[in-house]
Amino acid sequence: MQQAEASKNNLFQKDKDHLWHAMSKYNEKAQPVVVKQGEGAWFTDMDGNELLDGVSGLWCLNLGHGREEIAQAAYEQMVNVAYFPLTLSHVPAIELSAKLSEVLKGSYTTFFSNSGSEANEVAFKIARQYHAQNGNPEKYKIISRYRAYHGSTLGALSATAQANRKSKYGPSAPGFLQVPPPYSYRSAFGDGEKSDLAAADYIEEVIKWEGADSVAAVVLEPFISGGGVLIPEPEYLTRVSEICKKYDVLLITDEVVSGFGRTGEMFGFMHSAGVQPDIVTMAKGITAGYFPLGATAVSSHIYERFKEKGEKEHFRHVSTFGGHPAACAVALKTIEILENEDVVNRVSKQSDSLLNELRELELHEQVGEVRGVGFLFGIELVQDKDSKEPNEELAAKVIAGCKEKGLVIGRNGDTVPGYQNVLIIAPPLTSTEKDLRFLIDTLK
Ligand code: PLP
Repeated sequence: MQQAEASKNNLFQKDKDHLWHAMSKYNEKAQPVVVKQGEGAWFTDMDGNELLDGVSGLWCLNLGHGREEIAQAAYEQMVNVAYFPLTLSHVPAIELSAKLSEVLKGSYTTFFSNSGSEANEVAFKIARQYHAQNGNPEKYKIISRYRAYHGSTLGALSATAQANRKSKYGPSAPGFLQVPPPYSYRSAFGDGEKSDLAAADYIEEVIKWEGADSVAAVVLEPFISGGGVLIPEPEYLTRVSEICKKYDVLLITDEVVSGFGRTGEMFGFMHSAGVQPDIVTMAKGITAGYFPLGATAVSSHIYERFKEKGEKEHFRHVSTFGGHPAACAVALKTIEILENEDVVNRVSKQSDSLLNELRELELHEQVGEVRGVGFLFGIELVQDKDSKEPNEELAAKVIAGCKEKGLVIGRNGDTVPGYQNVLIIAPPLTSTEKDLRFLIDTLK
């Protein structure tokens, strides 16, 4: 017993001395949460505490822990072909690229990388090269929205618009600009549904002011996730898509979080009529968190222009591990499970009743708004309903209180100083009724 305690403390000390944690302030006194074992939506820490993972790791562990068939797919691939770069080709990457085209319900060609940040970098470079090759070398600007997070590498961070996150890493790369998000609770365009459409129309204004010949792409998450779970009316994306088409501006949907069933559709853009993005970026849920993989799917009408250039031009980008054979095998198995177990439909069916239950929290004076789609929920905490002043302290308190009761939930990223006040709930898509009951009851 004493030996077990000593070895645990030794591990904690090594963690403190050598492991640099992401997005965390160093705290000498705090004991790290070290995961020992996982099962379904639950994990056990080194002290034997059992916790329900209400944020699916970092919104990626969509099928929960312990799916042996996924581990088996990686194992079989690794013992067969351990590695091969995609300057050449291998079977799982070929099969996965074809499968992605099918599930995106269009005709897409995919470039693989290792993460969501890289998938977005690739998208921006492809968009710029596409226009340059089409005789528009000045069409390079990328428009994103305030509160958005598109990744941590410098290009993706330039498209990210969360002030605290960017502080000390500036300036942003040239050619990235931001517009207000659709956010009816705190909209720059008045209240209610109409504010979402006004936010879309504002993008058209910006394209005109900047000069359409200078704008390459609009990048957006169909539902801003880490920026505070912003859920626009479906018409918002339809309108943005129309505007993009009108000005030959590519529409890039960042489906890193919203892809693979998180929102109750296979992809977030599928909630909006008539939208077929030019480029779709994916990561996280593509492997249900079992392996790193990023993917940038490019619509055939864009890829055609690269094909036409043939020997003269090509996309000058390579990632050693992008599209690793084991990652592709894991992604194929993940999609197979989503389809065979009808996961996305089940999320869609369960979502409304969960949202209704969570909306009961709006009776609380300090709950400003509860928002959600699929298994992605945000609870915006305020000082009081009239002032809508953000309440970060309460968010921290609720998160700590939930953890004590065995539930891990998250909060939004460093969007605007003082506004880390949105609780985020995104449990694994395969959570059982009992898991979900525990989640709601604990939160309440
Ligand atoms: N895009 C979105 C919407 C994200 O939420 C994230 C990560 O949280 C990324 C991109 C970056 O993904 P990664 O951390 O895999 O680089």
